[in-house]
Amino acid sequence: MLFQPPLPSRYAEMTQEQMADEITRRRRAIGRRLVILGHHYERDEVLRFADFTGDSLKLSQIAAEQTDAEFVVFCGVHFMAESADILTDDSVRVILPDISAGCSMADMADLDQLEEAWRFLADATTQTIAPITYVNSAATIKAFCGRHGGACCTSGNAQPILEWALKHGDKVIFLPDQHLGRNTAYAMGINLSQMVLYDPELPDGGLSTEQARSARIILWKGYCSVHSLFTVEQCDHIRRVDPDCRIVVHPECPWEVVQKADLAGSTEFIIKAIAESPAGSRWAVGTETHLVNRLAGRHLDKQVRSLAGVQCLCTTMYRIDLGHLLWVLDELSAGRMTNRVIVPPDVRDDALVALERMLKNVPSQPQAAKPPSPDNSPRSTQRPQS
Ligand code: SF4
Repeated sequence: MLFQPPLPSRYAEMTQEQMADEITRRRRAIGRRLVILGHHYERDEVLRFADFTGDSLKLSQIAAEQTDAEFVVFCGVHFMAESADILTDDSVRVILPDISAGCSMADMADLDQLEEAWRFLADATTQTIAPITYVNSAATIKAFCGRHGGACCTSGNAQPILEWALKHGDKVIFLPDQHLGRNTAYAMGINLSQMVLYDPELPDGGLSTEQARSARIILWKGYCSVHSLFTVEQCDHIRRVDPDCRIVVHPECPWEVVQKADLAGSTEFIIKAIAESPAGSRWAVGTETHLVNRLAGRHLDKQVRSLAGVQCLCTTMYRIDLGHLLWVLDELSAGRMTNRVIVPPDVRDDALVALERMLKNVPSQPQAAKPPSPDNSPRSTQRPQS
């Protein structure tokens, strides 16, 4: 994690209203040279300043379209700012208001570990392997995938990307999120017994040569610290107390939770599912707190609540506050560029290959990560490898 020095004391002395007024003034002065992007998991007071909001996929697409702006201020986390830097022209400078805003999942895979895994797999099998990385990963991981015939994916297009990869390779190594990989492959009809879990902390990932050889999907042992807080017990509780309440979850949730849910899909999928549901419908949502609260406020004719009884907050997204946003705009106004995120050219070129493959495989509508099931019972009695 990169270190963000404390802000000058004047920001701590300002009220929220003063900071909001200053941000408005700075934005007006900088004008069209500035675009602010905001992820759905950001705080409301920050998101209201975003020119565009979206999930990782949508924001990647929007970043790729920015040719006129000079500065993109990314209210999100570090890997998103890296992707924006890779996808924009050299003339566009990408700024992350708090450089410590990383992602615990992205930090679970580094290049040395992936190269070690690749060597082990190359020794174990002569089959072709496509490396697929969730976009929630470092630029160096994306570059590795681009260099080795693989691609990036988001939760919105993991299935078409996996289908594409399995057309081009005998098997896939999917990283860093085991849950998205497992849920997507399972929804495609791939049996859990054809998937193995590679633990980068163990010699050979904790796998035998035979396990590596016979698996179709090799899942990296990474997870999202927010979405792994959702549990089967929470789903059972909702079913007990409110049988008509629908459960929708993000595919970063564990497989057992996705099996219990009525629907699973990307952030944009969740937003659309609730928006299109009839008035009076009730929803328990398995995703980040800020988005759930915003959906509850937006759909007052429906009942929207978190699936968990506790706040499932992405603490790194939460680092971006009004003070940090104002600070980077103050710096820009003073002719200084602080917290610029730059991906080195050699990494950038290969990472761009992986990201462009991702953007070519975008469905026109947000897709479910779980085929609808006639009842709420798990479709399998299998359990994933843990
Ligand atoms: S919600 Fe999870 S995957 Fe997304 S940025 Fe936060 S820790 Fe990373």
